[in-house]
Amino acid sequence: MTEPTLSELAKQPSCMDDYDPNAMSVTQARAFIQQFLNPVTETELIPIREGLDRVLAEDVISPSNVPNHNNSAMDGYAFKHREGIQLIHVKGTAFAGKPFIGDLNPREGVKIMTGAVIPDGCDTVIMQEKTVDKGGDYVNLLEAPPKGANVRLAGEDIKAGQAILNKSHQMQAADLGLLASLGIAEVPVYRHLKVAFFSTGDELVSVGKPLQEGQIYDSNRYTIYGMLSKMGAKITDYGVIEDDPALLESTLLKAAKEHDVVITSGGVSVGEADYMKTLLAQHGQVLFWKINMKPGRPLAYGKVGDAHYFGLPGNPVSTMVTFYQFVRMALLTLMGSAYKPLPLFKVECTAAIKKAPGRTEFQRGILFNDTDTWKVKPLPNQGSGILSSMSQANCFIVLGETVGRCEPGTVVDVQPFEGAI
Ligand code: AMP
Ligand code: MG
Repeated sequence: MTEPTLSELAKQPSCMDDYDPNAMSVTQARAFIQQFLNPVTETELIPIREGLDRVLAEDVISPSNVPNHNNSAMDGYAFKHREGIQLIHVKGTAFAGKPFIGDLNPREGVKIMTGAVIPDGCDTVIMQEKTVDKGGDYVNLLEAPPKGANVRLAGEDIKAGQAILNKSHQMQAADLGLLASLGIAEVPVYRHLKVAFFSTGDELVSVGKPLQEGQIYDSNRYTIYGMLSKMGAKITDYGVIEDDPALLESTLLKAAKEHDVVITSGGVSVGEADYMKTLLAQHGQVLFWKINMKPGRPLAYGKVGDAHYFGLPGNPVSTMVTFYQFVRMALLTLMGSAYKPLPLFKVECTAAIKKAPGRTEFQRGILFNDTDTWKVKPLPNQGSGILSSMSQANCFIVLGETVGRCEPGTVVDVQPFEGAI
């Protein structure tokens, strides 16, 4: 029996209850894409310095306790706690990295620095500011700290044998430090996801060349480059490809053969020079959707050979919105990461937002702090070609299908860009 094609699957009730390529909701499109994503399985061992944004292929187990010895949280004096103790005989000093060596009798203690090992026979630290030097190696305690005060216990952060980072975790700066704190020099990660991209359009010119009449500079390759780089993918830029079926065909096939994912922008609508549709009908299993959203209505998704293909709309804001709302999620899943949706926050908008119910909109806004309350100011020009709105904005204002016009003061959902694009 032959395997069902992507479009046959799309029509199966189990896949998409009410699949309609002309009115696909954002949630339906995401769920549809998600079921075809096959994460990379090949792994490699890398030094932790190279681990930023990489996805762990196994749980990381701690080989030791952190901290690995009881140590002082303060500069002060370490001693053995007992009721009514007021005076300590100071027998030496414990430094971080240079422990006190020697025996201590009751009422004897040591001067101790932050991070130094608590000597045998001591269980409590009093901070230096709460003591008075009496001379002759004696200090007076100005208060009676409880037993165990200012002592960081061995294993209180991490216990030996505990899983400290889980498989599928995408590592961040704190994780690299955590691994280093355990003396772990290398970790197993999934291999890089290989992503190719190119722009399509006769009117497009790359930076560095002069513009002729009717031409524009290609900006999508730069936004896509930036967004992909931030995600830690291994990228190949195939440049601008003219609206020439033969060139588009050879570039697409080469890119699909050598990469896990191919992303293009432009040419996915129904214009006369929109060749991608015919090409993909010949060489791939690609579905063209009119997503019920603004901006970013036309979107293509499918497979060309083994590669996942995303055909993003050409308008610069639409390219970024569709990347952010669909491609990002898919790439994270393909990278082997435990994908979590981006957080949404509810804040008041400071100006009216024009919108008709019936589709999801991702408007651009500026989140700002107004006397201790975060609010969002929608940007005035929300056109899908106004790339400066994306550059000025620091968040999307996400307005669901049922939402209509919002008056100033309405509480709306926002999705901050920080960390994501
Ligand atoms: P298309 O999706 O090819 O019909 O393009 C829609 C609009 O986006 C047109 O105005 C194009 O000129 C513009 N556009 C397409 N690709 C790019 C690009 N790479 N950079 C900037 N603008 C583009
Ligand atoms: Mg075009």
